[in-house]
Amino acid sequence: MADYDYDLFVIGAGSGGVRAGRLAAMGGARVAVAEEFRVGGTCVVRGCIPKKFMVYASEFAQSFKTARGYGWTVGEPHFDWETFLKAKDNEIARLSGIYVSNLENAGAELIHCRAELLDAHTVHLPGKNRTVTADKILIATGGWPTLPPNLPGADLAITSNEAFHLADLPDRILIVGGGYIAVEFAGIFNGLGVETTLLYRGPNILRGFDNDVRAHLAGELERRGITVILGAEHVSLEKTSDGIVSRLNNGHEVETDEVMFATGRAPNTKGLGLEKAGVELNAAGAVVVDEFSRTTAPNIWAVGDVTDRINLTPVAIREAVAFVETVFNDNPQSFDHEHVASAVFSQPPIGAVGLSEAEARHAGHKVDIYRSIFRPMKVTFYGGEERTLMKLVVDQPTGRVLGCHVVGPDSPEIIQMAAIAIKMGVTKAQWDSTCAVHPTAAEELVTMRSPYIPANLAQGG
Ligand code: NDP
Repeated sequence: MADYDYDLFVIGAGSGGVRAGRLAAMGGARVAVAEEFRVGGTCVVRGCIPKKFMVYASEFAQSFKTARGYGWTVGEPHFDWETFLKAKDNEIARLSGIYVSNLENAGAELIHCRAELLDAHTVHLPGKNRTVTADKILIATGGWPTLPPNLPGADLAITSNEAFHLADLPDRILIVGGGYIAVEFAGIFNGLGVETTLLYRGPNILRGFDNDVRAHLAGELERRGITVILGAEHVSLEKTSDGIVSRLNNGHEVETDEVMFATGRAPNTKGLGLEKAGVELNAAGAVVVDEFSRTTAPNIWAVGDVTDRINLTPVAIREAVAFVETVFNDNPQSFDHEHVASAVFSQPPIGAVGLSEAEARHAGHKVDIYRSIFRPMKVTFYGGEERTLMKLVVDQPTGRVLGCHVVGPDSPEIIQMAAIAIKMGVTKAQWDSTCAVHPTAAEELVTMRSPYIPANLAQGG
């Protein structure tokens, strides 16, 4: 074997890269991890974690209202963005530091610099004026927000990257997109008192989620004061003395202080020299990999968002673990991308696992639907109108639960447990044999006895 500087060179110190680098180093491999920004990647630095802090901060608005209904006297609450930002940044720095020490304690070398491939075994580190060699290479460079191409005035808008560091909270914001990031930030800004409009080009938000979930969430967002504009998109953005005017293709104009595009993310593959190393990309610019995360170059692997499979932190981590087991521990493993649960931290949040009703029908399943929409007891107490949705998609012939979808408080926590049962192939009969936990919202999930029949069908329509 040729003599390389490292056994493994990891490009990108996000969730996937750090896990792989740490495990391989703990197993005795000589590992280097290069990172051009901060250690922690999207999840820790400009994604899941700071987003969740923002969700927590914004949820207090609703809590103050609820508190009054429960007999509390609450003065006029005031939110200080600067205080929050400082605390958030401190916590992110702490978490990023833990990632650094985890890597170093495992014996991996952390290189604070961009890395580019010169060939399949040679890595150039432009910031260090150094070139190193490695037997194996892992690409874990994640993704980056994208703006709609060729849109006049798009440079006036921000993305989620900037939303974490705004100097001031705007009075009015327009959020563009109907995916995870758009609905999560719509809830955040609305909760923090910003007049919030959500603009989505399609007929309903969250394409790919169950249709009942999509309709329910859109209704709940509007109930909480978010203006939802559907079926329209930008023609241009223009700066005015009062803010930014968004001209839409339905002829309307919306003026806000900020416009945030949450219109998708692209894999970070540009300028990495992947073509020089024989690593193929797909049409979306993502690294093409096999089930073991191996690229078209035999000594190069890729995990996480850069492969555009399921772009979630725990998935990147599991892909990284499978990579180390396969390549360094002589224990071939591929991560099973089926039945991965996900949560959307909208307000109310969503938890979902398995097939939507439309996906199940499309796949040829004859399904029974169990559905419940109710006001949780916490809400009825103070006369609130917020509703929770719970839905099960069940394969009729086998009784197997194909999907579980929840919109309501704590649904991300609930769905983690439901995901275990669904991954194990639970049937509706087994599901129902589980005794309810009372009084909870989740008990509704195990007490839905009769299939839901839409009103028009129930009336013979
Ligand atoms: P998504 O792919 O989820 O959503 C992108 C949205 O932008 C879609 O509604 C899409 O519309 C719309 N869009 C795309 N292009 C345009 C355009 N040119 N003009 C107008 N609208 C456009 O991306 P996100 O950026 O929200 O999130 C990226 C990924 O990050 C997610 O898919 C998820 O995997 C991950 N993520 C996960 C989170 C979690 O687990 N809670 C939180 C945040 C992100 P259309 O539907 O019509 O294509």
